[in-house]
Amino acid sequence: MSKIAMKTPLVEMDGDEMTRILWKLIKEELILPFVDLKTEYYDLGLQKRNETDDKITVDSALATKKYGVAVKCATITPNAARVKEYNLKEMWKSPNGTIRAILDGTVFRAPIIVKGIEPNVRTWKKPITIARHAYGDVYKATEMKVPGAGRAELVFTDENGNETRELIHEFKGSGVLQGMHNLTSSIESFARSCFAYALDTKQDLWFATKDTISKKYDHTFKDIMQEIFDAEYADKFKEAGITYFYTLIDDAVARVMKSEGGYIWACKNYDGDVMSDMISSAFGSLAMMTSVLVSPDGCYEYEAAHGTVQRHYYKHLKGEETSTNSVATIFAWSGALRKRGELDNLPELMAFADKLEAATIATIEEGKMTKDLALITTLENVTVLNSADFIRAIREKL
Ligand code: NAD
Repeated sequence: MSKIAMKTPLVEMDGDEMTRILWKLIKEELILPFVDLKTEYYDLGLQKRNETDDKITVDSALATKKYGVAVKCATITPNAARVKEYNLKEMWKSPNGTIRAILDGTVFRAPIIVKGIEPNVRTWKKPITIARHAYGDVYKATEMKVPGAGRAELVFTDENGNETRELIHEFKGSGVLQGMHNLTSSIESFARSCFAYALDTKQDLWFATKDTISKKYDHTFKDIMQEIFDAEYADKFKEAGITYFYTLIDDAVARVMKSEGGYIWACKNYDGDVMSDMISSAFGSLAMMTSVLVSPDGCYEYEAAHGTVQRHYYKHLKGEETSTNSVATIFAWSGALRKRGELDNLPELMAFADKLEAATIATIEEGKMTKDLALITTLENVTVLNSADFIRAIREKL
């Protein structure tokens, strides 16, 4: 059998712990036997990031800008314990944060739906994709405890020293204060990433804020989205048969709960944080969520939404058997290969991505799955497989 050819390399970002083990198995069992794989390899494992003073993370993001498509394994974001464990020179920043800052992208997360893992919301039949604007608001806020009576104001000083002031509150007693911001440029990038991804996946796009209460802050988000839509995307949406729809956040929540799914829900930073956890747990499992970072100029980085599954890795190191779910990481690979196929006009590569996903889903639907899914499935008489055997079962199907 001749292998499927590729033209442009994928940017391959290897990672840490149990997902690094799965990464190798997925490549060996599910990709390399079928695809004449071309990648530009970046080892984002913590050791290598430490050795290169994290330059490797920056390089991998720049390579993504150059080639357009990356696939990333989960990586450790160091904390104090990790600094000790890996004897780090520094508490390196989150690789995802670094990559996101360079690509200026938006993260889209969607559940992988299989029969037997039923969503808690009965009406949901298709995935609901959450797009989270990952800059500013409460995540970059300045806060203050107000000790007692006094006057709080918002003050903006322009470059010439002119001040604009707004009263926040005349405090009669103690309280709390918070100042937050966002940037027109960041909201515009978010808007373009969302519209581009909606076109790419042919799904309707919803966006919601609380603009009736927040008449300047949230209203600006609403206005920028609408202006960019009207000027750059309205015709393309019409052609694709999809719609852009704005509503109040409370109305959006009510509609989501009664919907069938099958759309993208664009959220401000905080809403996206909360709603993506709600969606992933209501659809069943974090291990069944895909995640793709889309830049406004059309670069794609595919990954799993979960972390490095540290607890399983320590078991693995002790020689104990693990049953770690590799589905989201497999879908990161299939997503990246499909996108590469699309950009390079390689229908065979796109068809392979479809087959890989179908084989993965069919394996689970036949009752062969990892332990995390066995605990929540509605299927009876399931076989719980270890990490490697699950991947081998998918290969057999493939
Ligand atoms: P985690 O996602 O690794 O695990 C959270 C929980 O979900 C654990 O109970 C785990 O057993 C379970 N789980 C997650 N994925 C699973 C899978 N594929 N199969 C079976 N069970 C699964 O998150 P964590 O424990 O908070 O973090 C572990 C490490 O991962 C940390 O160092 C963190 O920095 C990193 N992390 C990386 C990313 C990323 O690279 N995108 C995201 C989150 C966390």
